[in-house]
Amino acid sequence: MTKIVNHWIGGRTVEGTSGRSGPVTDPATGEVTTEVAFASAGEVDAAVAAAKAAFPAWGGSSLARRTSVLFRFRALLDAHRDEIAALITAEHGKVHSDALGEVARGLEVVDLACGISVQLKGEVSTEVAGRVDVASIRQPLGVVAGITPFNFPAMVPMWMFPLAIACGNTFVLKPSEKDPSAANRIAELLGEAGLPDGVLNVVHGDRTAVDRLLDHPDVRAVSFVGSTPVARHIHTTAAARGKRVQALGGAKNHMLVLPDADPDAAADAAVSAAYGSAGERCMAVSVVVAVGSVGDDLVERIRERAEKIVIGPGDDPASEMGPLITRAHRDRVASYVAGAAAEGCEVVLDGTGHTVEGHEGGHWIGVSLLDRVPTTASAYRDEIFGPVLCVLRAETYEEGLALINASPYGNGAAVFTRDGGAARRFQLEVEAGMVGVNVPIPVPVGYHSFGGWKDSLFGAHHVYGNDGTHFYTRGKVVTTRWPDPADAPAGVDLGFPRNH
Ligand code: NAD
Repeated sequence: MTKIVNHWIGGRTVEGTSGRSGPVTDPATGEVTTEVAFASAGEVDAAVAAAKAAFPAWGGSSLARRTSVLFRFRALLDAHRDEIAALITAEHGKVHSDALGEVARGLEVVDLACGISVQLKGEVSTEVAGRVDVASIRQPLGVVAGITPFNFPAMVPMWMFPLAIACGNTFVLKPSEKDPSAANRIAELLGEAGLPDGVLNVVHGDRTAVDRLLDHPDVRAVSFVGSTPVARHIHTTAAARGKRVQALGGAKNHMLVLPDADPDAAADAAVSAAYGSAGERCMAVSVVVAVGSVGDDLVERIRERAEKIVIGPGDDPASEMGPLITRAHRDRVASYVAGAAAEGCEVVLDGTGHTVEGHEGGHWIGVSLLDRVPTTASAYRDEIFGPVLCVLRAETYEEGLALINASPYGNGAAVFTRDGGAARRFQLEVEAGMVGVNVPIPVPVGYHSFGGWKDSLFGAHHVYGNDGTHFYTRGKVVTTRWPDPADAPAGVDLGFPRNH
């Protein structure tokens, strides 16, 4: 029997009534295992109404009350890591250890949210003028929404809602329709942790649900993570409706390998970061820029390692890389490799023919490695989001840097070198929001913020860390005077107030 995923509104499961739903596939078999309800505008309205009704009590509750719920949630999430990872693997396809890693990185943001009291302390200046004090405080916005992508069905929602609710907001989450189950399980755990009904709601669906969230007058802010064209649409539309918005988009992350880099460390890092999660990571390395003489040797070391990657179902402990999310996506990724030679690339490894015995219906593709890729090739220009690594050659550091900075994306970038001076130059000169020095996937820890530059992020705030707290709160400055009874009356003064 097909499993049904419904909405979670007001602290309980609510069956979809729109008459619309979508299939969820097990990528390792190609079989439809689940049907997910697609919300109508009216069902989104019900979720927003539940969140709005919950806001006065939750936003007005003490920090101690809010953080005690988050501490209990943290313990439950920790205890259910394996179960959530299994839900992710069943619908996304990534291998279990990778899914566990995603839950762990989401937990980091829950840790931060448990300590929100420190971040919300505010600032006070005393005696800014005679008997005048000034306090800067931050208050929640109200109902906020999160719209998330398929590739991290647990972690990306946890980049958003833990901080949002810790700050006193109430939340409506619209997860990816491709792997919706983890979000509902997490919402249930929050309920078990004592989160009041309506503080976190989950509506499933497609563009209809998203458009209603963008339109709804009671939604004060929108956090989005997904592809660049949709991120741009979300940013423009939500901002035009007066909402605060952060919209994280796609990526094409470069790894610059300088001639003095440790070649084995660079090859290990390139292979792990390019092919981990089958390349379906916004921080995947999809381009290696080999500087000077390192190119031929590096490509050979990458090829040796890439050929050994074990591809298979995510729930098989022997598998290192799973299938792609859908058949259509698998075919799109394969088309870049099929067209690469005609566009001037040297095809070192072609993984398009890969199949897995006993799982012939799965969305399989092997790893591909393209060398001497021209910047005009579509495999270089587009975000492929699959296990395809492009290698480009540059004569000098400057040429490599210019190439990276010409990319329309600016999510992550890495440099591999033993030269501290070169690494320092790179971190200052590269146009990307997250930089790794001998670290290929520099995803910031929970207490720093995550975000890219250029077409990888629209809006002023990165997610989580201090930026997250700022995004989910608005500032208020309170100026106070308590005159001494002995003071003479100030009298009427129509001049602009001056401090003295
Ligand atoms: P996507 O843009 O197709 O979908 C993201 C969300 O938007 C989903 O919830 C989806 O239902 C919704 N959506 C899709 N089309 C829409 C439309 N036309 N109007 C309104 N809503 C729409 O992205 P995806 O395929 O789920 O995820 C992969 C993409 O996400 C890649 O581009 C990847 O780089 C990016 N991503 C970026 C980051 C980051 O931090 N920058 C992190 C993870 C993923």
